[in-house]
Amino acid sequence: MAVFEFDLLVVGGGSGGVRAARMAAQRGARVALVEAQAMGGTCVNVGCIPKKLYSYAAHFAESFEESHGFGWVGPAPTLDWSALKASRAREITRLNGIYLQLLKGAGVQIIEGWATLVDAHSVEVAGQRYSAQNLLIATGGTPSVPDIAGREHVITSNEIFDIDPFPKRLLVVGGGYIACEFASIFNGLGAQVTQLYRGEQVLRGFDNDVRSFIAAEMLKAGVDLRLNADVANITRTPSDTKNVGPLWVHLADGSTLEVDAVLYATGRVPNVKGIGLETLGVAQKDDGAIQVDAQYQTSVPNIYALGDVTARLQLTPVALGEAMALVDHLLGPVTGKTPRTMSYDFIPTAVFTHPNIGTVGFSEADARAQFGQISVYKSEFKALKHTLSGSTERTFMKLLVDDATGRVVGLHMVGAEAGEIVQGFAVAMKAGATKAVFDSTIGIHPTAAEEFVTMREPVKA
Ligand code: FAD
Ligand code: NDP
Repeated sequence: MAVFEFDLLVVGGGSGGVRAARMAAQRGARVALVEAQAMGGTCVNVGCIPKKLYSYAAHFAESFEESHGFGWVGPAPTLDWSALKASRAREITRLNGIYLQLLKGAGVQIIEGWATLVDAHSVEVAGQRYSAQNLLIATGGTPSVPDIAGREHVITSNEIFDIDPFPKRLLVVGGGYIACEFASIFNGLGAQVTQLYRGEQVLRGFDNDVRSFIAAEMLKAGVDLRLNADVANITRTPSDTKNVGPLWVHLADGSTLEVDAVLYATGRVPNVKGIGLETLGVAQKDDGAIQVDAQYQTSVPNIYALGDVTARLQLTPVALGEAMALVDHLLGPVTGKTPRTMSYDFIPTAVFTHPNIGTVGFSEADARAQFGQISVYKSEFKALKHTLSGSTERTFMKLLVDDATGRVVGLHMVGAEAGEIVQGFAVAMKAGATKAVFDSTIGIHPTAAEEFVTMREPVKA
């Protein structure tokens, strides 16, 4: 039998790779992890964490405004963009160090550099070969920008965190998670934000009521959201030799926008280029994503893949869940525990727009298609805080119930802290909670969340 240096070699130190490497090493396996950039991957460096920190920063603007209704007087402070960037960078560097220490502490050998696959048991990094019984590809994804004229002038979510100077006029292109979140964030931070979406309504795939509700709230908050709108080309003023002046964005309808920066948030593609997948015959889907079976094995035995590189649900907790399921599959469960598996049903998610969206389960359209007869409960109200704050922001909640079983199969919220609220309900829904269970649950008063357990009458079908 061949002797390998490692039991598991992980390519990619993002959410999935770090979790798999750490768990496997803690189980006694000999593990190496190759990372080409900063430890922690997308989520830690240019994703969830810095995004949420900026979202907190942006929420202060409305808090300063709203505080007057509660008796606070005096002018609102102004934003020091450089200070915010520096604080964020410090925190991310701290997290990079923690990830590194956790891995080293578990006994994972860190290999810095870009890995290419050599065969089903080995990779090459900076001219040196490493071999392992199993290889795990967790190389994540990267922003994808369509091939428009003037593409060189645009930035992506990778660059927005450090943009300098602060873009007073920002154009955001796209209608997905990233576009909506950054439109809200930069609007809150004080930029004049225009968001262009090519379709009828933002956030395709979400419940239609949620989509129209958040669009209306974002417009009210000051985002100039334009639907059915497309960019034709982007130019700089010809005299602008230093590339610092405004950008001219020519739209398909013939109009022109003058902005300081253009953020393209038009989806992400899996990081599969140049890692040797084709040579080894690792099967990929049309978009390049690595194909895996239920155990995350690729078409080549001993090579596994998970997380964004498989382009299924691109969420950090999904990559983490997949990593833990894979480690149990490869090494067996922790003594006395049942092996972890990953279930893709009822995965909750939040969009950190202002206000937030929190959602779990089916949209109304999907629930009707799946279950046929459903009951729909909706509620829209002004949160207690806004009775004094002066804000016109409203909260929206929706429950979908499968009539045949009484089970709550969809729960949606647009409102403050929707992500925090929906996480708890997701547990109940995984456990199969029925509307009768919701009804028999006593609310916590006064909260917005109590509305979910006091919705009595379904809307007329
Ligand atoms: P990644 O985290 O992308 O890690 C892949 C790693 O592999 C990278 O560090 C890369 O440098 C490395 N790598 C690639 N190729 C090689 C190679 N050949 N050799 C060595 N190293 C290599 N998800 C949420 O759940 N909540 C959120 O709020 C959220 N916000 C987001 C905001 C933004 C702006 C973005 C872009 C994403 C966000 N996500 C969020 C999605 C989340 O970040 C990803 O789903 C998650 O990071 C995927 O983890 P991963 O391990 O698959 O890949
Ligand atoms: P999404 O797939 O969510 O959205 C992409 C958007 O770009 C869609 O509105 C899409 O339109 C539009 N689009 C695609 N191609 C073009 C084009 N050529 N021209 C104009 N518009 C185009 O991708 P994101 O980049 O926003 O985010 C990637 C993933 O990262 C998300 O799907 C999510 O899984 C994850 N993420 C999670 C977050 C969270 O959990 N809070 C936050 C941020 C990211 P259409 O709908 O018409 O196809």
